[in-house]
Amino acid sequence: MKTVYFDNNATTQVAPEVAEEMKPFFCELYGNPSSMHIFGGQIGRKIRRAREQVANLLGCEPSELIFTSGGTESDNTAIKGMLATLPNKRKVITTRVEHPAVLSVCRDLENHGYTVVELAVDKKGRLDLTELEEQIDDDTALVTIMYANNETGVMFPVEEIAALVSSKGVVFHTDAVQVIGKIPINLSQSKIDLLSLSGHKLHGPKGVGVLYVRKGTRISPFMLGGHQEAGRRAGTENVPAIIGLGKACELAAKNIEEENTGIRHLRDKLEAAILDKCPDSFVNGDKDNRLPNTTNISFEYIEGEAILLMLDKHGICASSGSACTSGSLEPSHVLRAMGVPFTAAHGSIRFSLSRYNTEEEVDYTIEKMPAVISKLRKLSPFVTG
Ligand code: PLP
Repeated sequence: MKTVYFDNNATTQVAPEVAEEMKPFFCELYGNPSSMHIFGGQIGRKIRRAREQVANLLGCEPSELIFTSGGTESDNTAIKGMLATLPNKRKVITTRVEHPAVLSVCRDLENHGYTVVELAVDKKGRLDLTELEEQIDDDTALVTIMYANNETGVMFPVEEIAALVSSKGVVFHTDAVQVIGKIPINLSQSKIDLLSLSGHKLHGPKGVGVLYVRKGTRISPFMLGGHQEAGRRAGTENVPAIIGLGKACELAAKNIEEENTGIRHLRDKLEAAILDKCPDSFVNGDKDNRLPNTTNISFEYIEGEAILLMLDKHGICASSGSACTSGSLEPSHVLRAMGVPFTAAHGSIRFSLSRYNTEEEVDYTIEKMPAVISKLRKLSPFVTG
């Protein structure tokens, strides 16, 4: 049976070039970069190169990057590490639609005496920047707002937000896990102070990420121990993964524009055909400001999980809600924040594409989808007649 992988916002295939680059770092170049001997020295140089490859994709200085274990650690370090440097300020502003790696951290801060403001979004998943501006006051230590939403692909005007927050003298963090490798970014021209990314979302390995810390922005280390990462993140480096992430960033930097044109074309074709062939379906989120690879479609009156199971029988892999929250039948917090009606939020499916998807896979999915939906509608207790 054919398999079609349309769940690239959950994780991506490691690029073959990345896997190849990582190979020597298991059985040959296995030294500890902190060691003084030749084994250590050669690894140190390779890590420096990987740091430069990431910096090149982001348009920043290599010294502004800290390697972490992934997006979750980068988000936790950014938020908690930054707040620890400003103990007298007790207010944090975020949004209702953040990934749990940010939202859970912010909600936990409330147990420690912080005031946390979760900004609302409108029906299309957009923020009101006036509300943001009104919320920033003298007690505000940090604003943390994602660059693009993992469930809908909706992109916030993050550069504009960063400029606004910076003009108030407040630190700004963005979870850019879904954006890096999909949208060109130049941090040297930006007011973003802290930015999180994750290797496995851009055809790099799992278990590695980066926290960008603008020169001059203070953070207190989250992991204490050795002196790795210039004393900002203790623990022996995950060398193969860091090398792989460097290569993944190099590949992304080379092909980003061209690849995204192709991916956008496939996403648009898939989306338009599904909307056309499946009645009572609609796209969730602001279609004008979206990641080029993502579409989130609601199918009224049916369960997303049932759709996923039937698609899986055809070898088509997508997701309902985010991968981290699927398994629970609670409708997604993102769609709820957007006011998507219960009957449609339950039946929402996210298709997220990558450069490894083909037109043939899109055509195959377009062929299978209408029968899946109409079969489930016939079984639905919400559909009469
Ligand atoms: N932030 C966003 C927006 C994500 O989509 C994810 C992963 O789904 C994360 C953070 C967590 O990243 P990681 O899986 O590398 O911990």
